Amino acid sequence: QPVLAVVGRPNVGKSTLVNRILGRREAVVQDTPGVTRDRIAYDALWNGRRFTIVDTGGWEPGASGLQGAIAAQAELAMSTSDAVLLVVDASVGATTTDEAVAKVLRRSKRPVILAANKVDDQRLMAEVASLWSLGLGEPQPVSALHGRSSGDLLDKIVEALPDAPREGTPTAGPRRVALVGKPNVGKSSLLNKLTGEQRAVVDSVAGTTVDPVDSMVELDGQLWRFVDTAGLRKRVHTANGTEYYASLRTKAAIDASEVVIVLLDAAEPLSEQDLRVLTMVVEAGRACVLAFNKWDLVDEDRRYQLEKELDRGLVRVPWAERVNISALTGRSVRKLAPALRTALESWDQRVPTGQLNGWLSDLVAATPPPVRGGKQPKVLFATQAAIRPPTLVLFTTGFLEAGYRRFIERKFRERFGFEGSPVRINVRVRE
Ligand code: GDP
Repeated sequence: QPVLAVVGRPNVGKSTLVNRILGRREAVVQDTPGVTRDRIAYDALWNGRRFTIVDTGGWEPGASGLQGAIAAQAELAMSTSDAVLLVVDASVGATTTDEAVAKVLRRSKRPVILAANKVDDQRLMAEVASLWSLGLGEPQPVSALHGRSSGDLLDKIVEALPDAPREGTPTAGPRRVALVGKPNVGKSSLLNKLTGEQRAVVDSVAGTTVDPVDSMVELDGQLWRFVDTAGLRKRVHTANGTEYYASLRTKAAIDASEVVIVLLDAAEPLSEQDLRVLTMVVEAGRACVLAFNKWDLVDEDRRYQLEKELDRGLVRVPWAERVNISALTGRSVRKLAPALRTALESWDQRVPTGQLNGWLSDLVAATPPPVRGGKQPKVLFATQAAIRPPTLVLFTTGFLEAGYRRFIERKFRERFGFEGSPVRINVRVRE
């Protein structure tokens, strides 16, 4: 979602205005003193448009002198946001600091909205008009304290922001599942078991056209669409070149799905082919359930062996849901539906920006990113930019090493869950 950065001199009423924009949904200034400073990014919603609002007051760029500090703050704001809101105090008029900031902002290719705050009184309108001199277009009079005209200001803001990328309006109809795995791992057996156990195989659902290659399967009282199963229901035996074909087929099924059941043969060591399938799932960003099939063949020794294999083999998907099943005996097949549900809940989950930043600022304060090239990268703020898969964007002043990104992901999962879903972490370094 798009980011709006709020800049301005101290005491022009930035935080009060941010609060006004957020409404009463997320408390900012009511926070305990000392905490407010760190919690700088929040979700805002206006006319159905979502955006992230960042109060740059918390950045305290280390430049000398107030003017330098605010100019640096504006630079940073421009490089990390889609639009900038400059707040000036109309009761004071444009100061030299405001002019310096305006100069920086005029160079920006980003849209800039100029808010003339503290217009508690009609008589200040002449002062407001004088702010045209900043060269940032029409000043928008507001009173953060009294809420005056904040609706008009918000209209201007969402107008200036790019559209949020269209994302998962919850899919109507059954969730889409891919059932994949190497040949002979038991895909057809499992699908037959699943369709055989239900009362009736549903071939069409009212109002939706069912792609004939998909199978509708009812599990645990819920209807699921198993995608691209034509070849599974009736086994197609292809003579040669099957491997390449199978891999294309697997990729197509994964792409068409929301959650993937990767079937693994518990009786055999993890193979290269298994790992390739897992890589496909991660790259496609799909939720994932690992089903260890043929569990009826697993004895104590094999179980012990398997645990050791998994430590090494599943490094890419330590977060995946796991179930041990037997398509032959039906053992634990019932556990698939709850695992699918958990994985999809995580895939759909969004952490509110305020909560995310409260957590992140503590984490980064306790364990700062490693110094690179003599510089300490700073993590400014983060938003969860997307779901399906959950995607975090970290705004930083420098490159974050892969090890540190993994650390953040691990801590993020410890704090917020996301079992069964990949989590992507993108870093946007200030240009
Ligand atoms: P696919 O190629 O992945 O569709 O695999 P199939 O479903 O055709 O199964 C391959 C072979 O494994 C068949 O002989 C199945 O009977 C057998 N099989 C499938 N699931 C199980 C299981 O849970 N336990 C055992 N012991 N054998 C299984």
